[in-house]
Amino acid sequence: MTTAHSAKGLEWEHVYLYRTVDGTWGNNQVKNLLTLPKGVLKNVKLSDKEKNEDERRLFYVAMTRAKSGLTLCYAASYSSYGSSRLSVPSMFLSEMGDSNLTRIDVQQIEDEAHAHIETLLTTGKPLSPSKSEAAFLQDLVDKFSLSVTALNTYLECAYKFKLDKLLKVPHAKKPHLAFGTAIHAGLELFYTELKESGKKPTKKFLLDTFHTTLLKEVITKEDLSIRLTQGDKILSTYFDLHQDDFKESLFLEKFSRVQLDDITLTGKIDRIEWSDQSDRTVRVIDYKTGKGKTVGQIEGTTQDSQGDLKRQLVFYKLLIDLDKRLQNITFGEATLDFVEVPKQLSFKITAAEVDELKKIINSAMKEIRALHFPRTTNLKACEKCVFADHCYPQGIPTT
Ligand code: SF4
Repeated sequence: MTTAHSAKGLEWEHVYLYRTVDGTWGNNQVKNLLTLPKGVLKNVKLSDKEKNEDERRLFYVAMTRAKSGLTLCYAASYSSYGSSRLSVPSMFLSEMGDSNLTRIDVQQIEDEAHAHIETLLTTGKPLSPSKSEAAFLQDLVDKFSLSVTALNTYLECAYKFKLDKLLKVPHAKKPHLAFGTAIHAGLELFYTELKESGKKPTKKFLLDTFHTTLLKEVITKEDLSIRLTQGDKILSTYFDLHQDDFKESLFLEKFSRVQLDDITLTGKIDRIEWSDQSDRTVRVIDYKTGKGKTVGQIEGTTQDSQGDLKRQLVFYKLLIDLDKRLQNITFGEATLDFVEVPKQLSFKITAAEVDELKKIINSAMKEIRALHFPRTTNLKACEKCVFADHCYPQGIPTT
């Protein structure tokens, strides 16, 4: 997969161009003006004409990447934010003339695709991998770097890890995750502005950045409206509560890629700030949306918790300890910032906890490298799992 711009200078045997419709290829509408139906616009204004000339050249570049075959596709209609709009083929297709195009009836292909997808999604029993699948998985595992989310997923269900973290089976992002992404982005941009300008940004800045990010997420109109109201309320309260103690960060969204023997670990820390600059000790902050957790739930000492949150904090200490670029700072403590409640809980991490985590990582990676991906027997975990319909097409067993 590539964009037309990135494809310049490259060639493939067969090229597929998707969404070759008006508005995407040619006749781009200008926002905030009176909207005309797509396909009505013609090259009448010089500026539009020039714009279409640029797109026409790019379309030509995209088409000529094909050595032997080119397929131009478009759907009869496209949906966005819950509403559907009939599409009009790109003006460039009509300019090519019917004699240069062979039209394909895709009904049969669509029927076959539906049947194929249905088979894939209703495979009830886990199958042992064929030789070629094992080779494919082995290649993925060889290149794999372990994040704490992937580790926690493996510990919850090895099969889910295989689907989600190795094969990266696509699935819709749930509204609460889109919401969490937007809250994180709002806070990240707020602290970036504070760090760069040296001045505390306004509450409006925080809310605006949250809005901008949430609007980019794929979410229904109804969910969007609910989540915008919810986010405004949460971030307003958060801003009022912390307005006297916002301080400049040392690092924001700090990414680390480190080696633990022959295992590559990766992670991104939301925020790192000085805990005590005189002895170069830092505090690591991780934002959490959703309900707050008790210390027991974080530590994994309650029945409903496997200690994922505490493992995440210990993992962050391990990343900082191993990251050669961060040798001039010392991990002091980690804070879970429950933005929605709001409350913050801080934890010191002991050397014994780090050693224990290293053992867990080594043992999990040994299993992953052996391509051992059994399904969990804890069916409670399946109730919230996005792959539940795939694993249990007849419904999750109750016993
Ligand atoms: S539905 Fe259950 S068994 Fe299947 S991937 Fe999810 S957690 Fe694992």
